[in-house]
Amino acid sequence: MKYYSTNHSSPLATLQEAVVRGLAPDKGLYMPERIQPLPREFFDTIDRLPLADMACRVADAFFGEDVPQETLHDIVRDTLSFDIPLVRVSPGIWSLELFHGPTLAFKDVGARFMARLLGHFIRRQGAGQVNVLVATSGDTGSAVANGFLGVEGIRVYVLYPRGKVSEIQEKQFTTLGRNITAIEVDGTFDDCQALVKDAFMDADLQARLRLTSANSINVARFLPQAFYYFYAYAQWRRQTSQPAGAAPVVCVPSGNFGNITAGLFAARMGLPVRRFIAANNRNDVFYQYLRTALYQPRPSTPTIANAMDVGAPSNFARILDLYGDSHDAIAADISGATYTDQQIADTVRAVWQEHRYLLDPHGACGYRALSEGLRPGEEGIFLETAHPAKFKDTVERIVGQPVSIPAKLQAFMQGAKQSVEMSRDFASFKAYLMGQ
Ligand SMILES: *Cc1c(COP(=O)(O)O)cnc(C)c1O
Repeated sequence: MKYYSTNHSSPLATLQEAVVRGLAPDKGLYMPERIQPLPREFFDTIDRLPLADMACRVADAFFGEDVPQETLHDIVRDTLSFDIPLVRVSPGIWSLELFHGPTLAFKDVGARFMARLLGHFIRRQGAGQVNVLVATSGDTGSAVANGFLGVEGIRVYVLYPRGKVSEIQEKQFTTLGRNITAIEVDGTFDDCQALVKDAFMDADLQARLRLTSANSINVARFLPQAFYYFYAYAQWRRQTSQPAGAAPVVCVPSGNFGNITAGLFAARMGLPVRRFIAANNRNDVFYQYLRTALYQPRPSTPTIANAMDVGAPSNFARILDLYGDSHDAIAADISGATYTDQQIADTVRAVWQEHRYLLDPHGACGYRALSEGLRPGEEGIFLETAHPAKFKDTVERIVGQPVSIPAKLQAFMQGAKQSVEMSRDFASFKAYLMGQ
């Protein structure tokens, strides 16, 4: 399968080229040429398939032409070494718990898959070192760093905004060492993302280093996220009393919009979804786009759901492309919601008090958007994108009691932080990379 750029001014790329490049030469995002619908029989039996088998079927549809099946299935099984359970929180509202992976956030799925696929391409090519640049507002850095840790032939640079990620998040990518370098930028997430984008566009750097991105712009990170939408639906079918043929509303706490875009792909493959809701914090460029049909990126504002503090969501280009630039078509499939920190905190507290379910601030946006957006008779699934302990201080302040840290997270807290300090101007970042 070939991949085209959303800007339509770059030649078609192979999967390998798209994965190694990250961004297309014309600065567009790669899109698969075709989205293959899955056969009826797959959906008829979906509620009996284990997660990994289901994911292999979805992976075949995207990558089957380009990766030998045995390798691909090994990559999928290795990626999904943890469960993704669907848990009922309140009447009609279900949580897809995406926080059972190594860094306790949904990004583990895409990051682990991408690391393994890139590793496969590098081995097959026998080529030299590839350098992964990744900008993070918190969880990407930890998922990517842990996904790539120790993978032969790959060096990872994690750029993050100083003082704007939680201590636990920071520990997860600054304590690893080996092939992982953390770069602490004096700026915002958008500044980090801009540095990464500029590095890709820089001819000197491209000539000297083989650079790729592990942000959700990379097809190998973004597409595998479709896996768990199928699994969510399968579990819902098993657990719900809704009639056969019913479809859930799916609500995704969104920042860069990679996660929800993978859900839109799943729907194109035939997954029954009544409609999508994109839940935003105050960084609600997409919400405003739905209202006004105007897309106006703006600088991000810090919130307590910091992994969604994105002022210019990269994957918006993919959504536009998927819907042929039609605002009406987008607004017909996706509705939006936007919440202040106060509303997010109120939701965490209320759901804890009423249902004894502890949300993280991102999942809280998802829960609230569903509870406000469901119509009579509808049921919905929200993606609980991270474990509440990743935002321990915030969540403890809200619920007024201690939140225990799972053993997986405890282990990271032991390590000593190591980072390279960087200003947000490109010249110094470039000089640093040229010296590597
Ligand atoms: C990254 C992240 C998000 C936003 O996901 P996008 O794919 O960027 O929209 C939401 N919640 C958490 C916990 C995250 O880490």
